Amino acid sequence: MSSTLFRGADLIESGDLVIYHGSKPDYHGLYIALPCPCRYCYIADVRGTPDARYALVDPWGEHPRGLVHVRRQSITRSVANS
Ligand SMILES: [Zn+2]
Repeated sequence: MSSTLFRGADLIESGDLVIYHGSKPDYHGLYIALPCPCRYCYIADVRGTPDARYALVDPWGEHPRGLVHVRRQSITRSVANS
């Protein structure tokens, strides 16, 4: 759709409010993004691989366990985050 619109403000930092719109429709919504804590992502991060992934924390506890290993393409920084 309008993906080019979002490419400018593309950097998502730890603690940013994001919208998840990935492959699990049940989880679509607002989350706080954190760096994915898993080993693979840690290694990718150390290597500087551009394929960094995120862990998502649900601030309202609707999905208490949140999501991990979420691809950058599956989230968009929330416009409410300013
Ligand atoms: Zn991961």
